[in-house]
Amino acid sequence: MQRKIAIIGTGYVGLTAGICFAKMGYKVICVDKDKNMIQKLNEGIIPIYEPGLNEFLKKYRKNIEFTTDLKEAINKSEIIFVCVGTPSKKDGSIDMKYFRKAIEEIAKNMDNYRVIVNKSTVPVGTGDWTKEEIKKYYKGKFSVVSNPEFLSEGSALKDFLEPDRIVIGVEDKKTKEIMLDIYSSINAPKLITDVRSAELIKYVANAFLATKISFINEIANICERVGGDVKKVAEGIGLDKRIGKYFLRAGIGYGGSCFPKDIDGLAKIADHHRYNFKLLKAVSIVNEYQQIKFMKKIKKILKKVKGNTVCFWGLSFKPDTDDVRKSPAIEIIKKLQKENYKIQVYDPIAIENAKRELPFKNIKFCKSALKAAKGADVLALVTEWPEFLKINMKKVKNLMHHPYFLDGRNQFNPQKLKKLGFYYEGIGRR
Ligand code: NAD
Repeated sequence: MQRKIAIIGTGYVGLTAGICFAKMGYKVICVDKDKNMIQKLNEGIIPIYEPGLNEFLKKYRKNIEFTTDLKEAINKSEIIFVCVGTPSKKDGSIDMKYFRKAIEEIAKNMDNYRVIVNKSTVPVGTGDWTKEEIKKYYKGKFSVVSNPEFLSEGSALKDFLEPDRIVIGVEDKKTKEIMLDIYSSINAPKLITDVRSAELIKYVANAFLATKISFINEIANICERVGGDVKKVAEGIGLDKRIGKYFLRAGIGYGGSCFPKDIDGLAKIADHHRYNFKLLKAVSIVNEYQQIKFMKKIKKILKKVKGNTVCFWGLSFKPDTDDVRKSPAIEIIKKLQKENYKIQVYDPIAIENAKRELPFKNIKFCKSALKAAKGADVLALVTEWPEFLKINMKKVKNLMHHPYFLDGRNQFNPQKLKKLGFYYEGIGRR
């Protein structure tokens, strides 16, 4: 039997899931309330930048529909994946308005047995809330599942199709069998849990990864004081299998649409249950400090050379994505704009999204890395796009007003740059 799947919300997660399910041979119907986005998708245009999605959409187009009509999608599908955004509120707690609305709309349109699978990152207990909410509108049988998503932007397709694990929080045998069947073609450990544990696993995974990042950033700051090289220190500890080598790259801190909100979100969940998650709160404080510290380095150089112009290479929160949500680059630039510094920026993909985030003040969006470097007093590398490593740095030095290079992602070889006449400073490196 060819299963029919509805995807509610076609952002980074929903679109990836929808296209991958189409590849797996299911009939997929993707719904988004954003008419513009659905129109583009129907024209074959992917509205976000995610490597490989375009090609996959073309290849598996016959298995996938795009619509704004939620009722039609619910009626046509047996399994409904909810992939709407769950952003942070100002106080760090999780804003559930999109999720609540989506569930209400699903409930009002249900007319038969459906499996409602939640892929959005949501507070523990949301599964129970979902059941109660649906019961208000629909009196028949249904199941609620928590199936958190662990993909990373930039490698979303691979992460979805070859994940480290699939977590399925489920309450009954029949639904468990349906979920295992859906993912049967994916060769990965499938962890069956209760719904609350599955909801928690997503937050805990992100919290742990963010802790690793803040930990190594603290070590980088110590390296700067004692004269060590954090890259070597990270390598030295990462070779220990109990520690592992991943997420030990010192830099200007984590960003993106997930880590900052999930770290604050989990701390708030703990607060709500009268537990002070001290370690996690420190992770967030360290992350903010890392950006401020980098900004101070920029300002110190500008003061020294009596200059005012900063070139930024990178805007997205990481390479291979156009996502600038909570990007450290954007946060640092905003702060410098407030202090009237002149900014020149270049990013291979994220400029259009950044234009929507950054005030149009003292900023020049450039078409190449070289143009952005022209006349700058200091160059700050803030997103490690591979193309930056291929640039002729001699040319860059000649274009700059002062040859100061701040490597916020420890990408370049300090000795090589020094030989070219740069003043080089990385994060936690001698
Ligand atoms: P996104 O903002 O890119 O996309 C969400 C989409 O949902 C938007 O297009 C929006 O228009 C749509 N939407 C909102 N309410 C709707 C409704 N009622 N009906 C139809 N469409 C609706 O979000 P995202 O980055 O894909 O994240 C989705 C969820 O997955 C979040 O909870 C996030 O924390 C989680 N997550 C994200 C990532 C990631 O890397 N982006 C990874 C894992 C998990």
